[in-house]
Amino acid sequence: MRNRNVHIVSLGCPKNQVDSEVMAASLAGSGFTIVPTPDDADIILVNTCAFILPAKEESIDEILRMAELKKTGKCSRLVVTGCLPQRYGKSLAREMPEVDLFLGTGELPSIAGRLEKLMQDSPPSSRSVVGQPTFLMNAGHSRLLSTPFYSAYLKIAEGCSNWCSYCVIPAIRGKARSRQVNDILKEAERLAAGGVKEVIITAQDTTAYGRDLKGKPSLAVVLRELAGIKELRWIRLLYTYPANLTKEILETVAEENRICNYLDIPIQHVDDDILKAMHRKGGSRIIKESVAAARSIIPEVALRTSLIVGFPGETRAGFNRLLSFVRETRFDHLGVFEYSREEETPAASFPAQVTKKTKENRRRLVMEEQAMISHEINRSLVGSHQEILIEGRSDIPGYDFTGRCRRQAPDIDGITYVKGKNLTAGTIVTGAITAGEEYDLFAETSEI
Ligand code: SF4
Repeated sequence: MRNRNVHIVSLGCPKNQVDSEVMAASLAGSGFTIVPTPDDADIILVNTCAFILPAKEESIDEILRMAELKKTGKCSRLVVTGCLPQRYGKSLAREMPEVDLFLGTGELPSIAGRLEKLMQDSPPSSRSVVGQPTFLMNAGHSRLLSTPFYSAYLKIAEGCSNWCSYCVIPAIRGKARSRQVNDILKEAERLAAGGVKEVIITAQDTTAYGRDLKGKPSLAVVLRELAGIKELRWIRLLYTYPANLTKEILETVAEENRICNYLDIPIQHVDDDILKAMHRKGGSRIIKESVAAARSIIPEVALRTSLIVGFPGETRAGFNRLLSFVRETRFDHLGVFEYSREEETPAASFPAQVTKKTKENRRRLVMEEQAMISHEINRSLVGSHQEILIEGRSDIPGYDFTGRCRRQAPDIDGITYVKGKNLTAGTIVTGAITAGEEYDLFAETSEI
């Protein structure tokens, strides 16, 4: 059928990536063809992110880049979905006439019908359709995976009710709403039957799972159920909230071999005054206790965290407390964001906003500290044996393959270069770590 090629640009977090995959499957199921490059597309769909300034800038740059293609290329329609229209809907429509349709995060299920209408010559009645962010996917929503065949994100809930004072996500994605346990299981079984070996559990706050459901099934219940799927080899947990990280969850991670000894615990800061101003539940004591509990209950657990520097009111002393905590705690992986002053959030009107220069300087200091720590930890792994999920070829002499260990999540942690023969993507081998660099590891395996 004529002019029904769609190219999807997916920006932002894994939750948004899952949305793009659901939209791709819905469109493909309605007679559209998903094409890998924008040059072959009649319709370009940009699924945006808008939680902080750099993400908004990236989204707008990408939309404008695609709009150029509309002027010169095959593309006749440009559609923008996701968090940017959800946050700025009507004003965007005014400012970006080159975009044919803006759809909020709640419009996802109607994407095929809306594109169908758009391809009819009559322009849509409204170029911006933004309703309440109430959509929650379920196993009935198939997905066209954009991750490699052996790995997939598994979104167990949508939205967030934590209302951190700097964060727009509760306003963009709505209140926290969990999928039913058996619905998550059904999707995970389908993914596993399709060849997925690694599922990566994601939500805004995975540890808030089930609070809104009858009987309040906890995240530990979901983990145990997933660990029962024999075809799955690795189950990885992201976005745990320190104050919600229960002993039950930690023990489940420790006891179930399929669950990677890996935890992502975004703490954001460790200074009690800043944590209070951030409206983060639980102060530095809870954070230190949850890190200590994770390390005592889960053997050799790899810990990842995310920090915000330059939050309003962050003094040099407060920042130094954070830097010492990073030095003492020695996280395996760590990401740092400069505080982004987001209008409509309480923190945007807090006094003592920190200068851009100071934010940049503090981010650099934390990243320099972490680079040394990460290098030392990687070197300390030399001689150990690790399971490695082979991902592809490498151009590093002597190390023909790339992969990831259980301690490495995709896209955010380093990778492992592997010396071996006839290894294929999607297989899991055991290898001996031979070297450790700042972020990457090197390994050797005799397995094929
Ligand atoms: S936990 Fe806080 S930072 Fe994370 S999505 Fe929810 S409100 Fe935002």
